[in-house]
Amino acid sequence: MSYTWAVATHVGRIRHENQDSVHPANGGAGDTLLAIVADGMGGAAGGEVASATAIEAATAEPMRPAERVQAANRAVHALSQAKRELAGMGTTMVVADLDAEGTAHFAHVGDSRAYLLRDGRLTQLTNDHTVVAEWLALGAIDEATAKTHPRRGMLTRSVGVAPEVPIDEFDKGLEPGDRLLLCSDGLNGMIPDSLIATLLGAGSPEEAAWSLVEAANTAGGNDNITTLVVAVDR
Ligand code: CA
Repeated sequence: MSYTWAVATHVGRIRHENQDSVHPANGGAGDTLLAIVADGMGGAAGGEVASATAIEAATAEPMRPAERVQAANRAVHALSQAKRELAGMGTTMVVADLDAEGTAHFAHVGDSRAYLLRDGRLTQLTNDHTVVAEWLALGAIDEATAKTHPRRGMLTRSVGVAPEVPIDEFDKGLEPGDRLLLCSDGLNGMIPDSLIATLLGAGSPEEAAWSLVEAANTAGGNDNITTLVVAVDR
């Protein structure tokens, strides 16, 4: 399988710093790809440091995706213990390791998402680790309430806040024509999945990555926005 990818990241229209980090930093093409989006949180410089540290640790050597998240967790936690001004920092992380045979190996923690667009149908591959997503799964609230709930950003897990973190892991077989999206919640928190589906499928990966960012900004740009778009070909 061959992959063509593009990345876009933007501070949004409200925040002054972009605390998202993305790997790789630039678009490209090849028959394998390690793709990561991390959305940092924490006061002062904490968020930015957390997401950048996580990606650095996760990409330091070849590992399975869950081990990359473990390595990130250890590195962010150690740094937050070592520096008072970084105490309590953390980050989300979604890792997609796309192999030459066309299987995507995922690991994730938090509310950054992976989506698959196949034959015009968008599927959210990851489950958000948020309080609201858990309430939704339990049937305690409905989808409409979940989308607007004031606590929808509250995470139940994040990378780096504790010595250990439970990690979701799964594989997904890819097909030629598929498009994969990794994104921070500054995208899906601002625009509906129906619009994500339309924009993800239109134009080159680069055009799709930036039109998604633009749409989130048009909708208000309340948060940092990061998109990583992969087109899958034979
Ligand atoms: Ca965010």
